Amino acid sequence: MKTKFIFITGGVLSSLGKGLAAASIGTLLQSRGLRVTIQKLDPYINVDPGTMNPFQHGEVYVTEDGAETDLDLGHYERYLDVPMAQNNNYTSGSIYYEVINKERRGDYLGGTVQVIPHVTDEIKRCICGVARNQEHVALVEIGGTVGDIEGQPFLEAIRQLRYELGKENVLYLHLTLVPYIRAAGELKTKPTQHSVKELRSLGIQPDIVLCRSEVDMEESIKTKIAMFCNVDPDAVFSAVDVKNIYEVPWAFYNEGLDQKIAIMLKLPAKNPDLSKWRELLYAMDNLKHKVRIGIVGKYVDLKESYKSLHEALVHGGVANDAEVELVHINAEDLAEGNLQDHFRDVEGILIPGGFGTRGIEGKILASGYARENKIPFFGICLGMQCAVIEFARSILGLEGANSSEFDADTPHPVIYLMTEWYDMRNQCLQTRNSNSDKGGTMRLGAYPCRLKPGTKAQAAYGETDISERHRHRYEFNNAYAGKFEEAGMLLSGVSPDNSLVEIVELEDHPWFVACQFHPEFQSNPMRVHPLFRDFIRSVCEAS
Ligand code: GLN
Repeated sequence: MKTKFIFITGGVLSSLGKGLAAASIGTLLQSRGLRVTIQKLDPYINVDPGTMNPFQHGEVYVTEDGAETDLDLGHYERYLDVPMAQNNNYTSGSIYYEVINKERRGDYLGGTVQVIPHVTDEIKRCICGVARNQEHVALVEIGGTVGDIEGQPFLEAIRQLRYELGKENVLYLHLTLVPYIRAAGELKTKPTQHSVKELRSLGIQPDIVLCRSEVDMEESIKTKIAMFCNVDPDAVFSAVDVKNIYEVPWAFYNEGLDQKIAIMLKLPAKNPDLSKWRELLYAMDNLKHKVRIGIVGKYVDLKESYKSLHEALVHGGVANDAEVELVHINAEDLAEGNLQDHFRDVEGILIPGGFGTRGIEGKILASGYARENKIPFFGICLGMQCAVIEFARSILGLEGANSSEFDADTPHPVIYLMTEWYDMRNQCLQTRNSNSDKGGTMRLGAYPCRLKPGTKAQAAYGETDISERHRHRYEFNNAYAGKFEEAGMLLSGVSPDNSLVEIVELEDHPWFVACQFHPEFQSNPMRVHPLFRDFIRSVCEAS
């Protein structure tokens, strides 16, 4: 069967949850026995979001193959439980980059290179390439809103694809906002009408209009939208706000959205099996315990910067019948004398990944506080590096110990840039000249790790060979390995060739585990990540 494409555009304003809508529709189609993949096309000019400030753009999500991608890919993986890759996310920047490279190579044989057809052809090539496993359905989400200048080549490309792939293989779904005007007690359809009008002026007639709204939409509103947007009345769906994002597939199912899509695209769909999702929602509605976790970070104000982390903590909570409340603690506010005030109300401490010097000393203090007070502690990437630095200073007596990222002249670079290491993912030797040369290379994507028997890490995973995703430059300095182990910080996970330390943990502590990788990228509500599960378990046991 030829892959069928569902193109999802957004109107009126951004942040309507196109990513969640795509992930939820994907889930419903998957539960009907179909193979599904999802792609995100971002109209911004950055080649990838790797260089973008999480404050502006939210988390950078890392795939198994080492791509730095938009956070929506995290939703796709969490809902579908299928790995995403580089070709699930393109930006205008990456498309233009490719076109310009082709031009430089002479691939266009002297022709004038233009947005139409060269850029649009490249976009179409990327779209068609996403269904690499001959999926039944590929959902393609176009970032931004209709009317954005940057988005136009993408809209033109998807317009053309309906002609090339055949009407029966392409469906356009437009997500809009139907605002509720409280004073009038009314839902307003005008912004939706305008947004569809804009889309139609670009040659795209949506087949389905999905309307975000605060309150239930009456039939008369749907009929009005259908009439003015030129769609079937039964192709207007409402997406009413829900309290928990995992309710979205269920809400769409109750609206009949997946059924309409299956009929419109003539998909070989079975009746959906949503039993796992119903169990999950039931569990989430009936959690018996409540725990508070302090997250010591820098981007404390913006939830989006730690999206996967937040979700993984929720999953870890569900696995332990506990609601997890996240308390964001600004690392820069922490000082020797005020730790107790900040941590009084939390039962577990987590230090997430991060870059740059700001807040580092606060994070180091936080890990020391957790160590001394036997508070369950989970360090992730930078969080592990802070725990290592703290242990070196306080227990090994290595004064001034640091990461060479934060202090290039530290007498004890317990975390450092390796000058040479064997990259098991790319099967090559990586070399760097000195500390000042970052070499432009981060360790990105999935790497193997071997766990030592009898450790908390190994107990969590229940196996010895695992694979986890990385995004960092600095590493644990093996020259100090012996000292750490003698003093009670076990190196419980290392690369199979023994050259890279991937997990450390404290022997004499209820649960103090820190890893160099980002486990949050591999957690989903149905398959909770073992480290998040055990971290929350230890918090529940301690409280
Ligand atoms: N800044 C640290 C490094 O580059 C940690 C990165 C991270 O936490 N993702 O190694």
